[in-house]
Amino acid sequence: MKKIIKKNNCRACKSYNLKKILKYNDSPIGDDYRMYAHNHEKYPIEVYLCKSCGLTQLLHVISPKILYSNYIYKTQDSPGLTEHFIDFARKVSKKLNIKKKAKF
Ligand SMILES: [Zn+2]
Repeated sequence: MKKIIKKNNCRACKSYNLKKILKYNDSPIGDDYRMYAHNHEKYPIEVYLCKSCGLTQLLHVISPKILYSNYIYKTQDSPGLTEHFIDFARKVSKKLNIKKKAKF
Protein backbone atom coordinates (compact mmCIF):
# COMPACT_ATOMS: atom_id res chain seq x y z
CA MET A 1 0.00 0.00 0.00
CA LYS A 2 1.32 3.38 -0.99
CA LYS A 3 1.00 5.86 1.84
CA ILE A 4 0.93 8.90 -0.36
CA ILE A 5 0.85 9.80 -4.03
CA LYS A 6 1.30 13.15 -5.69
CA LYS A 7 -1.08 14.03 -8.48
CA ASN A 8 0.37 16.03 -11.36
CA ASN A 9 -2.84 17.42 -12.80
CA CYS A 10 -5.85 19.38 -11.57
CA ARG A 11 -8.48 17.48 -9.60
CA ALA A 12 -11.27 19.40 -11.36
CA CYS A 13 -10.30 20.04 -14.98
CA LYS A 14 -7.31 17.65 -15.33
CA SER A 15 -5.05 20.46 -16.58
CA TYR A 16 -1.32 20.22 -15.97
CA ASN A 17 -1.07 24.01 -15.82
CA LEU A 18 -0.48 24.17 -12.05
CA LYS A 19 1.53 26.53 -9.90
CA LYS A 20 2.64 25.94 -6.32
CA ILE A 21 1.45 28.95 -4.33
CA LEU A 22 2.01 27.87 -0.70
CA LYS A 23 4.23 25.40 1.08
CA TYR A 24 3.86 24.70 4.77
CA ASN A 25 6.13 22.60 6.90
CA ASP A 26 5.31 18.91 6.77
CA SER A 27 2.55 18.20 9.27
CA PRO A 28 0.82 15.27 11.00
CA ILE A 29 -2.67 14.37 9.85
CA GLY A 30 -5.29 16.75 11.23
CA ASP A 31 -8.02 15.44 13.54
CA ASP A 32 -5.96 12.45 14.63
CA TYR A 33 -7.74 11.75 17.91
CA ARG A 34 -5.94 8.60 18.94
CA MET A 35 -5.97 8.32 22.70
CA TYR A 36 -2.55 6.76 23.09
CA ALA A 37 0.88 8.24 22.60
CA HIS A 38 1.78 7.95 18.96
CA ASN A 39 4.64 8.95 16.78
CA HIS A 40 2.85 11.04 14.23
CA GLU A 41 4.21 10.73 10.72
CA LYS A 42 4.36 14.02 8.87
CA TYR A 43 3.06 14.69 5.38
CA PRO A 44 3.67 17.51 2.90
CA ILE A 45 1.21 20.38 2.67
CA GLU A 46 1.66 22.22 -0.60
CA VAL A 47 -1.14 24.29 -2.11
CA TYR A 48 -1.36 24.54 -5.89
CA LEU A 49 -3.37 26.85 -8.10
CA CYS A 50 -4.73 25.55 -11.37
CA LYS A 51 -4.10 28.29 -13.89
CA SER A 52 -6.75 26.83 -16.19
CA CYS A 53 -9.80 26.71 -13.88
CA GLY A 54 -8.68 28.57 -10.75
CA LEU A 55 -9.12 25.71 -8.28
CA THR A 56 -6.71 25.75 -5.35
CA GLN A 57 -5.87 22.28 -4.17
CA LEU A 58 -3.48 19.87 -2.51
CA LEU A 59 -1.86 17.44 -4.93
CA HIS A 60 -0.53 15.04 -2.30
CA VAL A 61 -3.12 12.34 -1.66
CA ILE A 62 -2.74 10.37 1.55
CA SER A 63 -4.12 6.83 1.56
CA PRO A 64 -7.64 6.72 3.08
CA LYS A 65 -6.47 3.74 5.16
CA ILE A 66 -3.98 6.03 6.86
CA LEU A 67 -6.39 8.93 7.14
CA TYR A 68 -9.38 7.05 8.49
CA SER A 69 -8.31 3.71 10.00
CA ASN A 70 -8.05 5.28 13.47
CA TYR A 71 -10.55 8.06 12.94
CA ILE A 72 -13.00 8.16 15.82
CA TYR A 73 -14.91 11.36 15.02
CA LYS A 74 -18.50 10.97 13.82
CA THR A 75 -20.66 13.77 12.47
CA GLN A 76 -23.35 13.05 15.05
CA ASP A 77 -20.81 13.84 17.79
CA SER A 78 -21.24 17.55 16.98
CA PRO A 79 -24.65 18.79 18.10
CA GLY A 80 -26.59 20.30 15.23
CA LEU A 81 -24.23 19.18 12.48
CA THR A 82 -26.46 16.37 11.25
CA GLU A 83 -29.41 18.78 10.99
CA HIS A 84 -27.18 21.29 9.20
CA PHE A 85 -26.22 18.74 6.52
CA ILE A 86 -29.82 17.59 6.08
CA ASP A 87 -30.93 21.22 5.64
CA PHE A 88 -28.02 21.90 3.28
CA ALA A 89 -28.87 18.82 1.18
CA ARG A 90 -32.50 19.97 0.92
CA LYS A 91 -31.46 23.46 -0.19
CA VAL A 92 -29.04 22.12 -2.79
CA SER A 93 -31.65 19.63 -4.05
CA LYS A 94 -34.19 22.42 -4.37
CA LYS A 95 -31.74 24.79 -6.09
CA LEU A 96 -30.67 22.10 -8.56
CA ASN A 97 -34.26 20.90 -8.98
CA ILE A 98 -33.42 17.33 -8.00
CA LYS A 99 -36.66 15.35 -8.06
CA LYS A 100 -35.47 12.00 -6.79
CA LYS A 101 -36.83 11.23 -3.34
CA ALA A 102 -34.19 10.81 -0.73
CA LYS A 103 -34.54 9.53 2.80
CA PHE A 104 -33.27 12.01 5.34
ZN1 LIG B 1 -8.18 23.00 -13.10
